[in-house]
Amino acid sequence: MAIVGRPNVGKSTLCNRLTRTRRSITDPTPGVTRDPVESLWELRDVPLLLVDTGGVTTLTESLARLISDKAYAEIERADAVVLLLDVEEVSPEDHEIIRRLRPFFDKLILAVNKVDNSAREQEAWNLLELGFADLVPISAAHGLGIDDLEIAVWELL
Ligand code: GDP
Ligand code: MG
Repeated sequence: MAIVGRPNVGKSTLCNRLTRTRRSITDPTPGVTRDPVESLWELRDVPLLLVDTGGVTTLTESLARLISDKAYAEIERADAVVLLLDVEEVSPEDHEIIRRLRPFFDKLILAVNKVDNSAREQEAWNLLELGFADLVPISAAHGLGIDDLEIAVWELL
């Protein structure tokens, strides 16, 4: 399973939450995860290779490089792809990533992160207007919505 998203949406935090490790380095500075980071995630006793695609380099680089070649290869070989958005801001980069992920929509789950409280939950649901049939509001930092995300991934395996 690959986790994709622009810098700072919480990909590393989610990886750590799922695998209960601190292997992916989280940092408030965008672009800290430079290369895909692989870890083992056991979902209901099924071992999965979890890939924090990172590799999206820095905000100053061109939109065309937002999904690096390495990240793209991980997306192609994944059984499930989690696109992570930040409920606080959906930027032009997010729109570009969504556009580039369109060929993979049949194995894509939209997860909206930083939904730390119920006020933010309505904002998360509003993001269905981006053209998705469903989404999963989560808070990777606080461990909210993780069960629902696990169910969504399980259904794709
Ligand atoms: P990445 O660049 O996508 O890997 O993002 P990180 O996992 O490094 O997280 C970026 C920042 O967002 C860090 O300061 C995290 O603490 C913060 N963050 C991650 N998940 C959440 C969350 O659920 N709620 C809030 N409020 N902050 C979060
Ligand atoms: Mg990261």
